[in-house]
Amino acid sequence: MPTICQNERFCALRGIVVSLQNMPDNHTPAQRHNNMAAIHSASTTPERKLRHALWRQGFRYRVNDKRLPGRPDIVLPKYRTVIFVHGCFWHGHKDCKYYTAPKTNTEFWMAKVARNQERDQEVWRKLEAKGWVVVIVWECQLKKANLENTINRVAGEIVRNGEAYRAIQEERKKAREEYRRERRERKEREQALLKEVKSL
Ligand SMILES: [Zn+2]
Repeated sequence: MPTICQNERFCALRGIVVSLQNMPDNHTPAQRHNNMAAIHSASTTPERKLRHALWRQGFRYRVNDKRLPGRPDIVLPKYRTVIFVHGCFWHGHKDCKYYTAPKTNTEFWMAKVARNQERDQEVWRKLEAKGWVVVIVWECQLKKANLENTINRVAGEIVRNGEAYRAIQEERKKAREEYRRERRERKEREQALLKEVKSL
């Protein structure tokens, strides 16, 4: 019998627990789930911190959406906003103390960071072309001392993006209505004309 976590439909541990199926132990699936959940929540990544804070403020999102360029960490469709949480070193956070050149193999690492930055810009360009607003959150901004400020800033940006997005939608809706009205009026004029011609 494979040990599969069936506690929750969306349990993030499903894959992990499945891979443990061959481990010789006496745990029931439920115990295994609880153990893994404890380990899981102990490793709070900066991204998860941000996600949970946003969730508590009522924002709803998708995570690592494969359908979008660059697979953004957090996607908020209602606000047409995507968020990337970037490691300061790997993505080259300018003027950040966590972005320092390694003492060995310096050129190799710096070239790697430069490639990441190029890729990032390409991804932002693609997303923006699709009408998404890209918000970058650096890992250093999610450290304890900065966390609250960062969350407030990000939440503010999300709300503003949402308002702008709704305004654009409203505008498009108006334009569509206008177009339909014009078409209807033209049709009416044509029919009236046709009637006149026929009655001659
Ligand atoms: Zn940084």
